Amino acid sequence: MKILVLNCGSSSVRYQVFGMSDERVMAKGVVEKIGLPDATLTHRPTGRDKVEIVTSIPDHATAISMMADALTHPEYGIVESLDQIDIVGHRIVHGGAHFIGAAMIDEQVIAELERLTELAPLHNPPSLAGIHACEEAIPGVPMVAVFDTAFHQTMEPEAYLYPLPYEMYERHGIRRFGFHGTSNKYITSRVEDILKTPAADLKIINCHLGNGCSITAIQGGKSVNTSMGFTPLEGLMMGTRCGDVDPAVVAYIMRKENWDAHEASECMNKRSGLLGVSGVSNDLRNVIEEAEKGHMRSQLAIDMFCKSIVRYIGAYMAEMNGVDVIVLTAGVGENSPLIREKVCRHLEFAGVEFDSEENKINGKEHAITKPGSKVKVMVIPTNEELMIAREAKTLLEKRHVAID
Ligand code: ADP
Repeated sequence: MKILVLNCGSSSVRYQVFGMSDERVMAKGVVEKIGLPDATLTHRPTGRDKVEIVTSIPDHATAISMMADALTHPEYGIVESLDQIDIVGHRIVHGGAHFIGAAMIDEQVIAELERLTELAPLHNPPSLAGIHACEEAIPGVPMVAVFDTAFHQTMEPEAYLYPLPYEMYERHGIRRFGFHGTSNKYITSRVEDILKTPAADLKIINCHLGNGCSITAIQGGKSVNTSMGFTPLEGLMMGTRCGDVDPAVVAYIMRKENWDAHEASECMNKRSGLLGVSGVSNDLRNVIEEAEKGHMRSQLAIDMFCKSIVRYIGAYMAEMNGVDVIVLTAGVGENSPLIREKVCRHLEFAGVEFDSEENKINGKEHAITKPGSKVKVMVIPTNEELMIAREAKTLLEKRHVAID
């Protein structure tokens, strides 16, 4: 079985093709700068040289059709024809309260996704464009939608409701949804495998620290609380997003700066976080580099970032009445010994025995606590694409059973 996994962003399309007999990546690639004259397709067939094409790519349909050409190219393709792809898995950021798991894409699902664009105006439209482009480029191949929000549908109302008037929930559906669910699901399954313990018996806190950052409390294999909310803006300080601020600041800032709602949202989503505080970059590597040279605001940004992580870990420890495993994942979690150490040092009170030697190792699954540590802290590289492929496989197999 071959599965194409697609992640369509506003100006990019990322893809991977998996051979599911051994879950190997056959090819992966990315189309970047869609809409600009120097858009680029970078295609990497496994074990062969990468191919780069720079050209004008006006829209997602063109990007998907170029990806389709690359996948079937006589020199650097990986299949002769696209009907050798069994199923396409689409990453969809927002599934609202409707989708509690992955769904085979049909007209109804598309209609629901269109309805949800109001909740995720930045994220869902490119995914829909990707779905429509696939209908054209790979007609007849079934497609599955895998939602970032689905894993969090297990939260209880006391975790997902905001203390606003209840009618705001009833009338407008305002509630916590949570994101990075696919990553959380993958990490949960890796923790089970590594510790040879069923998730049902574990309390896990997963810290997904990339450009977007969230922390999730996972008890008995289920999300019981998560730091992102109605949108991916709430919670931790992030690359360009502010995370938690006093909501009264928004109205105040709008008055003072003479901004409309869009401008305020732009500021909090795109010009805050590490970038906003440091004034240097949203990329933690640059912020660390500047802090090492003595740049005060970069150091402040790092300290604030770590404090926000520690605050959520502490809150979720209390909420679950303890924790067995804390996982650090995504770009920062997998690659930054500095942030890992600063976070772990704060958690000694809870029984985290930090191992500074292990912490020097990046990008591979391992514990960064001493063997007897009461709470284990692990670095586990996430793999959302593989998780999407697995979900797509499961749904396809179920469909075959239903048809048989
Ligand atoms: P995305 O949310 O876009 O998938 P990633 O998971 O790729 O993001 O994470 C991007 C973040 O990881 C960036 O802030 C980047 O600075 C950080 N990062 C990557 N490598 C390192 C490193 N070696 N040290 C510190 N931060 C790193």
